[in-house]
Amino acid sequence: MSTALPLLQADPIVAQKPAVDPSTLEHRNLLDGPFWQKIPAYREVDETSFLDHNWQAKNTITNVAKLLKAVEGLVTPQFVADAEEGFKRAPMSVRVSPYLLSLIDWSNPYEDPLRIQFVPLQSRLLPDHPKLDLDSLHEQADAPVAGLTHRYPDKALFLPLDTCPVYCRFCTRSYAVGVDTEEVEKVNLKVSDERWKRAYQYIASRPELEDIVISGGDAYQLRATQLEEIGEALLAMPNVRRMRFATKGPAVMPMKLLTDDPWLDALTRVVDKGRKLHKEVVLHTHFNHPKEITAITQRALGRVFERGIFVRNQSVLQRRVNDTPEVMGLLVKRLGHVNVHPYYVYVHDLVKGVEDLRTTLDTALYLEKFVRGSTAGFNTPVFVVDAPGGGGKRDAHSFEYYDRESGISVFTAPAVKRGQFFLYFDPLDQLSLAAQRRWTDPLEQKVMVEVALQRAKEHVR
Ligand SMILES: *Cc1c(COP(=O)(O)O)cnc(C)c1O
Ligand code: SF4
Repeated sequence: MSTALPLLQADPIVAQKPAVDPSTLEHRNLLDGPFWQKIPAYREVDETSFLDHNWQAKNTITNVAKLLKAVEGLVTPQFVADAEEGFKRAPMSVRVSPYLLSLIDWSNPYEDPLRIQFVPLQSRLLPDHPKLDLDSLHEQADAPVAGLTHRYPDKALFLPLDTCPVYCRFCTRSYAVGVDTEEVEKVNLKVSDERWKRAYQYIASRPELEDIVISGGDAYQLRATQLEEIGEALLAMPNVRRMRFATKGPAVMPMKLLTDDPWLDALTRVVDKGRKLHKEVVLHTHFNHPKEITAITQRALGRVFERGIFVRNQSVLQRRVNDTPEVMGLLVKRLGHVNVHPYYVYVHDLVKGVEDLRTTLDTALYLEKFVRGSTAGFNTPVFVVDAPGGGGKRDAHSFEYYDRESGISVFTAPAVKRGQFFLYFDPLDQLSLAAQRRWTDPLEQKVMVEVALQRAKEHVR
């Protein structure tokens, strides 16, 4: 028997890692100071007003003319005309908070990642994919009660209302969220005691439902009393074990978490009550770009963290917004830095009027390689495709077949809809010219889809 382990006899000089490249610590560098005063309309606005959620709500811009007026002098007349035409063709209505408006770099609005998400430009729009429709996720088809989608075995999605603190161009729920636009007449999902009661009755009647997502619209828009009512109603059901309130709010109006005490207190009471009942109540939010996380966000989320409220993030992968390893990597690190767990990155759904925002599935596969390994595994998001046709979320890597030439990928979802196949389509302008030409012919489209399904069937087990 040897007396010492070989390791202990090894040379004591340990290889030194080279000094850290400061750019890798960029996630800690958060925008601070009165950045909003760069916007002419907010030049005189002090910090107390800017951090007041009522001021933010009151000054939120809900029409195109006012939005463009607010940035008058900062942008060119061509940009204004481009945006006016863009909004005319958009499926979403306008809603931009002063905070969000202030984060946009108006000296370079064509490239700004926040402008891209909230202000459509006619010059950048692309024709929709031929396979695209509104409500591509079939949320309405899977809804036993209006605004309650029961797709997965043990969880349901409850949409108590149809408004949000802002309206995102890329919204998957453009079939319902916001007011009617020139392009789209919306399904009605207003706050309604009657509709909510039917949703509660359905949830209580299904013993398999353990997990309820309360989304919208957006939980930020619920009054404190409404939020608590929903929380209490669901916590009282023995079958409900988990609940998430979903809100874009922390990304677009973080000050509400600092100054709307009744709302945060109501959420805290529901979380605390849930904890006593051994039920999980968490907040889900939606940051897409590292620029959306400022020193204000950090203070706001610090307050949430102190109260023991767990926050997860879901991002939407968008072209020219977060489709590079640098930006996605920074977003993931910065979320971790402000105590938010990156949960999902969605490959952009097939949504009308935003073809310019979609990426290929291959982009998601590529980005994932750079993100995984850069930080804690539990802070590493899963890249998912929400399978069109109601298959639910699938790991982007789990396709049965993917033809990068035609841009068609095929997924199965045995735990959700066994035996069915679900297709996702890359945006046409990202395909080869030959493939783009094939897509212009309906007969060729049919052939490409049939071949993809055939290959998937050969592969699936
Ligand atoms: C996303 C979603 C859920 C929640 O799914 P998780 O993967 O648990 O986050 C539930 N119901 C519907 C309809 C959904 O789209
Ligand atoms: S906040 Fe969410 S639900 Fe509301 S418009 Fe944006 S993506 Fe849609």
